[in-house]
Amino acid sequence: MSSNLFNLEGKTALITGGNGGIGLGIARAFAASGAEIAIAGRNKDKTADAISVLGDDHSNFLGLEVDVSDQESVENMVQDTLSKFGKIDILINNAGIGIRNLPHEYRLEDWNKVIDINLTGAFLCSKAVYTNMRDRGSGKIINIGSMTSIFGLDWAVAYASSKGGIVQLTKTLAVSWAKDGIQANSILPGWIHTDLTQGIKDNYQDRYDHILSRIPENRWGEPSDLAGTAIFLASDASNYVTGVSIPVDGGYTSF
Ligand code: NDP
Repeated sequence: MSSNLFNLEGKTALITGGNGGIGLGIARAFAASGAEIAIAGRNKDKTADAISVLGDDHSNFLGLEVDVSDQESVENMVQDTLSKFGKIDILINNAGIGIRNLPHEYRLEDWNKVIDINLTGAFLCSKAVYTNMRDRGSGKIINIGSMTSIFGLDWAVAYASSKGGIVQLTKTLAVSWAKDGIQANSILPGWIHTDLTQGIKDNYQDRYDHILSRIPENRWGEPSDLAGTAIFLASDASNYVTGVSIPVDGGYTSF
């Protein structure tokens, strides 16, 4: 174990949805902590831009195209990461989407799409990295949940169901794979400024302000606010922490 419990030097992280928002915020923090990083998303141009943001030494960074809801695509992503870096120490299941509508108006195809990406995607990626982590006797899986892992939300029936599922997926992976030296935990971000939430600010100012009024820290979060908890859960500092879901929300869940 390193003398610096939070050191990520020599560690390899695979971050789905690492080309923007919260995923890129975490990737930047991991890069500054010395990790090798593969980021994967659907949009190749966005991924190329994100790689250039991470730093000049591109031997430490890899950009990949993936659809996390497609098993073959996920397996290729993991294989490509292993081909470049030889191992995966950390998996961040961050890729996610939201489609807003009320439950009684929600279309089955939208339900399936959200569940397939947000929940099934995290399952497929975890399953795909398992063998490499098991064979080396260590690994960290960090799933990105949400406030809707805890609360109901009228216009987010599929999203909230997927994020509730993330908490139970996390517990089950933790229980199943502890014997293999793998820890699985979740981060539950509060309300964070990203592309995903830009529409609330732009189109629903009342809702944006109402949310703000419930945040004790009195501000929406930024992607960089997730960095410290992600480093903790990715590093040796959390070797006896598994199966938990940590809100990073400016106090929203305590209010
Ligand atoms: P963004 O929209 O900025 O990021 C979403 C990321 O997911 C993008 O990088 C996108 O990449 C990727 N992605 C979406 N679908 C797929 C797919 N099928 N396969 C691979 N990658 C995909 O939003 P956030 O940064 O806000 O969201 C990141 C995570 O954080 C999500 O899981 C979200 O639910 C969660 N979250 C966000 C909160 C917030 O307030 N912003 C609060 C709580 C949780 P690409 O465009 O290239 O496909």
